[in-house]
Amino acid sequence: MKVLQVSAEIYPLLKTGGLADVAGALPAALNARGCDVRVLLPGFVTVLADMQDVRTLPELTVPWGERVLVRCAWLASLNLTAYVIDAPSMYCRNGGPYEDDQRQPYADNGRRFALLGFAAAQLALGLDDQWQPQVVHSHDWHAALAPAYMAYSRQRQATRVAAVYTVHNLAYQGVFPPELFHDLGLPGSAFSIDGLEFHGQVSFMKAGLFYADHITTVSPTYAAEIQTQAQGCGLDGLLRARAGLLTGILNGVDDSVWNPQLDPLIPFPFDADRIAGKAQCKAALQKELGLSLQSDLPLFGVVSRLTEQKGLHLVLAALPTLFSRGAQLVVLGNGEKWLEDAFREAASMHSRQLAVRIGYDEHFAHRIFSASDVTLVPSRFEPCGLTQMYGLKYGSLPLVHSVGGLADTVVESAPEHVADGLANGFVFHEFSADAFERALGRSLALYARNTDWNQVRERAMRQKLGWDQAASEYLALYQRLLAESV
Ligand code: ADP
Repeated sequence: MKVLQVSAEIYPLLKTGGLADVAGALPAALNARGCDVRVLLPGFVTVLADMQDVRTLPELTVPWGERVLVRCAWLASLNLTAYVIDAPSMYCRNGGPYEDDQRQPYADNGRRFALLGFAAAQLALGLDDQWQPQVVHSHDWHAALAPAYMAYSRQRQATRVAAVYTVHNLAYQGVFPPELFHDLGLPGSAFSIDGLEFHGQVSFMKAGLFYADHITTVSPTYAAEIQTQAQGCGLDGLLRARAGLLTGILNGVDDSVWNPQLDPLIPFPFDADRIAGKAQCKAALQKELGLSLQSDLPLFGVVSRLTEQKGLHLVLAALPTLFSRGAQLVVLGNGEKWLEDAFREAASMHSRQLAVRIGYDEHFAHRIFSASDVTLVPSRFEPCGLTQMYGLKYGSLPLVHSVGGLADTVVESAPEHVADGLANGFVFHEFSADAFERALGRSLALYARNTDWNQVRERAMRQKLGWDQAASEYLALYQRLLAESV
């Protein structure tokens, strides 16, 4: 089955969060099941630089009149064939993929990502005469116009290509002023409540949700949560109306990247049977960061975007408790300035117990998971969350708020769950400083009970968290959609 995956990010070429990890891992997992997956990507500098054996497709004229080339190439870092939109004026800029170096969204983001959805729909229509997808699977708002363009081209030309749309985070919607609609080249009827109009604006997210043949999101619990007013970000009504076409498929972990036995980015390898390396990783990180060199102190870790969503104000509020209980904390993240400043300031006052690195550092992230005892993920909401799963694999037990994918992957280490072997971390339910501190207390209590700690950690490390299950579910979905479209 020919499947085109469409996303703005892909690990290891471009990553700002979990979307890239998923986009980088899913193609290989599907190919292992007999699919023929290709990806469509914006031509960011790192993507262009990775291209080999380049073939150029017929020139595209985009709805607002510009001419654009799409190349088909082999991506060496991914072992994958990709279509790349080669439009340097759009994608090769100083700054990040979505924001400039002052952290301001690019003024033309509407066009930049409309182009991604438009190019996907052109590939569905046969832009490449050597390969035509049967399924176009687009990810997040950046790629969400693909189902809209496909729906209208289907009306005109009866193509049977299925459109799947995955929401990785409903909070980021890609909403633009109504003037953008004139650029998009869609029929006027699309700018309505039964289309991509959202309170008078153009919403890419809504386009994906409204026009896709099937919607998925990245955990079963989040699939239910986004149908509620509290978590539906204004789109819960539409999601409830389409509930029969909405499925939660839990993300996996790419074992070729996140595996403490083979990870070249950590100083000492280890696994559930040879755990000694973990203590060595911890000692190495304590030394690197100037923390007190004590193996018996519990080390907590945070690897996160520093945004309101991630609930890290709870961690800030709990610092006195953590320190008074003798724990250490290492934080890696970047994002909102007030959080960056608050963590920096706390670190300057407690340098033997708290180490903070502001920035984005893939290597350092691996070292934190390998060294820490507990991974903190107190998110206010969390569609899936990958860091708690990396924590499980690296024997750093996750402490999480019971929402979204966190609720689907972490089981409280209550005595009955320790006994029945299900325990793998710590879970708090009410989103409050008190509930978070109580969970911290439970983690410290378990840490003090060596035998129980080791048992829970071993079980966590042995959990199967790969992409097999998710890839099977996506494949079954594609097959069903194709069978329905005949
Ligand atoms: P989200 O996609 O909301 O950011 P996820 O938990 O799904 O959250 O995925 C986050 C991914 O980004 C993980 O791979 C995590 O290790 C990585 N990550 C987040 N912040 C940083 C950082 N500052 N440095 C390195 N990796 C980071």
